[in-house]
Amino acid sequence: MALIVQKYGGTSVANTERIKTVAERAVSTAMKGNQVIIVVSAMAGETDKLIKLAHEITDMPDEREMDLLLSSGERITSALTAIAIQKLGYKSMSFTGRQVGIITDSSHTKAMIEHIEAGRLKTALDEGKIPVIAGFQGINEFSDVTTLGRGGSDTTAVAIAAALKADLCEIYTDVEGVYTTDPRIVKEARKLNKISYDEMLEMASLGAKVLHGRSVEFAKKYNVPLVVRSSFNEAPGTLVTKEDGDMEKIVVSGVAADKNQARITIMGVPDKPGIAGGIFNEIAGANIVVDMIVQNVSSDTKATDMSFTVSKSDSKKAFKIAKNVSDRLGAKGVNMNTEVAKVSIVGVGMVSHFGVAAKMFETLAKEGINIMMISTSEIKISCVIDVSHAGKAIKVLHDVFELAKH
Ligand code: ADP
Ligand code: ASP
Ligand code: MG
Repeated sequence: MALIVQKYGGTSVANTERIKTVAERAVSTAMKGNQVIIVVSAMAGETDKLIKLAHEITDMPDEREMDLLLSSGERITSALTAIAIQKLGYKSMSFTGRQVGIITDSSHTKAMIEHIEAGRLKTALDEGKIPVIAGFQGINEFSDVTTLGRGGSDTTAVAIAAALKADLCEIYTDVEGVYTTDPRIVKEARKLNKISYDEMLEMASLGAKVLHGRSVEFAKKYNVPLVVRSSFNEAPGTLVTKEDGDMEKIVVSGVAADKNQARITIMGVPDKPGIAGGIFNEIAGANIVVDMIVQNVSSDTKATDMSFTVSKSDSKKAFKIAKNVSDRLGAKGVNMNTEVAKVSIVGVGMVSHFGVAAKMFETLAKEGINIMMISTSEIKISCVIDVSHAGKAIKVLHDVFELAKH
């Protein structure tokens, strides 16, 4: 008997008809002799709707209150899914994050799972039930509800699979697997049968929202076999797994774009030791993750311009901090550009190939696309560009690295 965790995303539970289909798949998996745990997202559009409601009241709603608000979307679908499974004559029980003991830190709206007390889940399984867990949420040490960040239900599923040593974690979504790039933007995108944890980690953190980045970290750390597939058909999907010999031959395996970025520049910062540490300490203190950083030494060498990127959702908070720091240091001022995107190429084979970066930069240049910032790692290269060029950049990079369907 295998233990299988199945996660269904927003479009897969968008209405009661879709929820009934999910219930049928869950029951048919159980009828084959498996133990099944379901994790669900909120109905498509529900989380956006709740965020919009809060923003109708204020620009910067309190994050603790946002978490309680947003966690309600997933609760609705978990109860409805359990009802749909029961209607098929099978035992089921819905649970919130708190009820299955998902304990997180206190960084509201982007909490990290610290541990899972899976006792209640095990009891439900022993009683022959299909547990249905509301994804994307947990509680902190004060019993306050937390959420795991947009797309976080994937992480709930993989964390549960890791905690219970499941044999398989299936992520059901609205595309047939992981593609070389977003198949909704580039129709030539090719579905990958297999992708390594490391490549998937980069793709996810670089904007391919098909999997939440943290979910891939968990999968890698605990060796959870992970499959991404469609809830709309029976196609086999993409296996996310350990790197193997085949994979190394492919130089670039995917292209991703992240439009959820903002670039902040502090101009005329005094150029002396300790300044950068000071600035980024304050930003980190506000639980804001800084992605890229570029420092330009100005010609008189007494001052520099410091640019960095943060996610759009953190940009107002980060801008405020940068402004305070700038005033305090006597810098020339701060500006923010929210019309930027980060485009990236990813591939484990890059480590052993020359000229990949040059090819990327030349390709963008040929299209007249200006590069504002660059960052690289062993298996990825990212460029920040104007958001209006993002679609075109993805297409030409996909083309030049020959990722299209054969
Ligand atoms: P769910 O609601 O099921 O969690 P998401 O919207 O979070 O689904 O993720 C699926 C979407 O991810 C797809 O509809 C697709 O547009 C987008 N996507 C972006 N990059 C990729 C990629 N490389 N492969 C597959 N899908 C991608
Ligand atoms: N409902 C949340 C979101 O829309 C979490 C998820 O779907 O994974 O981001
Ligand atoms: Mg998702």
